[in-house]
Order: sequence, then C-alpha cells, then structure tokens
Amino acid sequence: MNETIVIGAGFGGLALAIRLQAAGIPTRLLESRDKPGGRAYVYEDAGFTFDAGPTVITDPSALEALFTLAGRRLEDYVELLPVTPFYRLCWENGERFDYDNDQTHLEQQIARLNPADVAGYRRFLDYSREVFQAGYLELGAKPFLAFRDMLRAAPQLARLKAWRSVYAQVSRFVEDEHLRQAFSFHSLLVGGNPFATSSIYTLIHALEREWGVWFPRGGTGALIQAMVKLYTDIGGELELSAPVERLETSGDRIRGVTLANGDYRPARAVASNADVVHTYARLLGHHPRGRRVAAGLQRKRMSNSLFVLYFGLDHNHTQLAHHTVCFGPRYRELIDEIFHAPALAEDFSLYLHAPCVTDPTLAPAGSGAYYVLAPVPHLGTAALDWDVEGPRLRERIFDYLEQHYLPGLRSQLVTHRHFTPFDFRDQLNAYQGSAFSLEPILTQSAWFRPHNRDSRIDNLYLVGAGTHPGAGIPGVIGSAQATAGLMIEDIGQRERPA
Ligand SMILES: Cc1cc2nc3c(=O)[nH]c(=O)nc-3n(C[C@H](O)[C@H](O)[C@H](O)COP(=O)(O)OP(=O)(O)OC[C@H]3O[C@@H](n4cnc5c(N)ncnc54)[C@H](O)[C@@H]3O)c2cc1C
Repeated sequence: MNETIVIGAGFGGLALAIRLQAAGIPTRLLESRDKPGGRAYVYEDAGFTFDAGPTVITDPSALEALFTLAGRRLEDYVELLPVTPFYRLCWENGERFDYDNDQTHLEQQIARLNPADVAGYRRFLDYSREVFQAGYLELGAKPFLAFRDMLRAAPQLARLKAWRSVYAQVSRFVEDEHLRQAFSFHSLLVGGNPFATSSIYTLIHALEREWGVWFPRGGTGALIQAMVKLYTDIGGELELSAPVERLETSGDRIRGVTLANGDYRPARAVASNADVVHTYARLLGHHPRGRRVAAGLQRKRMSNSLFVLYFGLDHNHTQLAHHTVCFGPRYRELIDEIFHAPALAEDFSLYLHAPCVTDPTLAPAGSGAYYVLAPVPHLGTAALDWDVEGPRLRERIFDYLEQHYLPGLRSQLVTHRHFTPFDFRDQLNAYQGSAFSLEPILTQSAWFRPHNRDSRIDNLYLVGAGTHPGAGIPGVIGSAQATAGLMIEDIGQRERPA
C-alpha cells in the first residue's frame, strides 16, 4: 500500500516518476503501450528509426535537473547534439529563412526581407525575453491551485499584454508578412493557434535563443530510454503493456487502480499522465467527481490534431536542414480552417523532419529517415473518416514533397506508415484525437487549466499536457515539477508521525 502510482510513461509521467523516486517515494509507472514515451514513441521499420513525435528538444537544463536530483549526470546516459539552424523556414515563392542563434545572420536575413524590421525584431526579442522570465522561469513550474495564484500573476500578465494573440503581438514589432509567420508559428508546436493563443507563447522564441535547439544522438527515443534507465537505476518500477482501466476509490480517496487484465494495484496516491478527459471520464467515470469534471472538460476547446507520415528513402537528402517548416500558400486562412472548419483544407503547411542530417545512424548507410506532419482538425471539429482520408492525404503530401523538397522521393521510397487523429484517439486515448490536449488559450491556461492536484480527491494528481503549464516537452517537464512538489509535500505531511 506504500506505493505511489503514475499512469502513463510520456515525458510528463516519466519526469514525475523520476522526481518522486529520487525523493525516496517508491513509485510504480504503469504504461498501456508496449514501449514508453507516449507521443515520443519509436517505430523501427526496415532498418529505419522513426521518432513518432517530439524532435525539437529545447531547455536541456530542465532535463539535466532530473538527472542531477537523482545524483546522476545526463551526459552519462544520453548525448545531446546541437542543431543548426534551429529551423529552416521555406515559402512557395522560393524565399528561405534560416532561423538560428546568430544575431548578425538573423538580422541580415531580416534586412533582406524588410530593413525596417531589424529594429522591430530587436524589440520583439526584448519582449520575448521578458515574457520568458515571467511566464517560464517564474510561473512555468508553479501549481495554480487557487484563484488567488491567478490574481497574483494577473499584473504581470496584464503588463505583458497576455490577452493579445501571438500573431497580433508579433505584428506590433515586424511588418513583413513572412517575418510575422516566422515569429508566430511556434505556438503551433504546442497546439496553439497563433491567432488565438496568448502572446505568452512568444516566450518560445527567447527560450530557443537562450538554450538552443538540440537532438539526442539516437533520436528522441534515446532520451526516453535514458530517462527510463535513470528511473529504474534509482529503484523505480515500470510496467509496460499495463493499461489502467479504473481508479478505485473509497469515498473521496483513491485506494488503487485496476488494470485491463483485472489485476489490482493498491496505492497511497495516484498521478495520471493519461489524457485528462480519459482520466476523469473513463478511469474515474464511476465516481460523481469523475463524471462532473469530465462533463466540464468536454465543453472546453481541444487543440488541433496532426497527420504524421513517417517514411524511409534509400537516399539521404543532405540539402535539407534537420527541421524545415514548409509554409503553404495560405497562413491565417489555413490555420483558421484547421481550428474551425468541418473539412480538410485543400492546401497544407508542413513540418519536415530529416534527422539523418544530424545523426545518420537512424537509417541504413546512405539512406534517410524522415517524417512530415500536417496540422489537421481534431475529430470534434471535422468528423472525417481517417481510414479513407489518411491514404489520400499521404499521396497528396508525397506529391508535394517530391515536387518542392525531395526530388525522386517516390522512386527512393523504401517504407512508410502514418498516424492520424484516429490513432491519437485509439492508441493514446486522446479526447477528439487532439495531439496536444486542451487548446492553450488564456481562458484555459494556469488556474483555468485542470489543476495538478484534484480539488476534491486530494490523493489524485495530474501531470502532462492537459495540466499547467501545458504541452511541449519543457511544458510537461514543468508540470512534473509542479505536481512532484505537491505530492512530496502531501505524502510527507500525511506520513509524518503526529
Ligand atoms: C507529432 C508530434 C510532434 C511534436 N513535436 C514536439 C517537439 O518537437 N518539441 C516539443 O517540445 N513538443 C513536441 N510535441 C508535443 C509533445 O510531444 C507533447 O506535448 C508531450 O510529449 C506530451 O507528453 P505527456 O507526458 O503529456 O503525455 P503523452 O506523451 O501523451 O503520454 C501519455 C502516456 O499515457 C499513456 N496512457 C494513456 N492512457 C493510459 C491508461 N489508461 N493506462 C496506462 N497508460 C495510459 C499513453 O499510452 C502515453 O504513453 C509534439 C507532439 C506531437 C504529437
């Protein structure tokens, strides 16, 4: 009964389990799939290694902190390689912008597009740094349990004009439309519509400028393996292929969990890294609290889904950058359709991942592993049949890539697979097939987001993209810090002799 359970081995669940175990709290991590990582799952096909999800690793200090507090060193477990440029941004008119960490180079490229925007960019960078200080360094890993926590943060949020959207705020600094896109697309990486998400998300720019963009040797999966090893090295228990079916309660307390195979695991506290709607509607659906919270969550706005296409070519396209954003013909209108239209747009903007540029070992010699993703509506916005749409979209994307970025793609194709909103729903239990959980708009952030500890069942905790501060690796690692702080304090208090 002395065990603490974490449900789900995504980045958030793993980071929390490490923190608890390192604090001397015996922890059991239960993961439904056959491999850890969640969104950061790994596929291995025909000698190619495909990271399923996150590829842009930022804020290595948050990762290092996990190893340090367990008395270990990150570099003994995994090697982080710097990525330059951070991203290559490409438009259909042939324009290209290599977004890197070199101020002179950035300013030269900005001046080429619009000389007046150089001064505007400098002011934007100052603003972004201020937001980063307040929104990330000060508030990012703090639990917002009470409304007074929100009131305390309100003056800062007001000063930083957090009610404005990312795009609106960027547009106050730069005039050129492509530069506005270059400095506003980042919120899409965490499921935020740049035209609706709070300008707080401009902090991603300062975060990348501060700490750089990294890629683990061996892929993001190698980082997950490093975290798993760290966790088990310090005594943590991990069970794979162990889907939790039900949170067992005794009044308003959790007493354990039942797995899909009927096994019961008692627990003194449980933290869920599974989707928040799944946690309340399914795992706690038998309890009035579960039904009530689930009904509230189902009325909230979920972030978009993604169509992700993984493919291996018998050619390594070294002309590519590691990360390329391929802007399509429309920006505002396309994003509006992704978030609101009941159908699939006719055009797309893509993110293309070419990891062999940094680490050729992810494919057989001379070959290249790739993935390309297109943001698409979630299933509540567009009720599409992805068994039909998936293969169609795959063909459209292959045609487009062959024409614009990967000449000869079709004749070089060795293997491919794709992941649709149906897979987010069915394999990850994601409500409406959302790729990033609740949409990160101001009225669904901080105190307005599901809290790191349930307010009625006080030994039930949440961690991951659906709770504060939100999606993205730095976000869910911050959520693990917030949740761990609460759990360590609560467990300490409950077990202190009277
Ligand atoms: C394609 C893609 C690309 C991305 N790229 C980036 C990027 O480059 N950089 C970045 O920072 N972020 C990126 N993100 C966002 C980032 O990956 C996620 O926000 C983050 O990984 C989510 O972590 P998490 O801990 O919240 O949960 P998840 O990764 O979703 O993990 C939750 C886990 O819970 C398990 N689970 C669910 N239900 C149960 C159950 N009943 N019982 C047991 N286990 C259960 C799931 O199987 C899963 O393993 C990307 C996301 C996607 C989808």
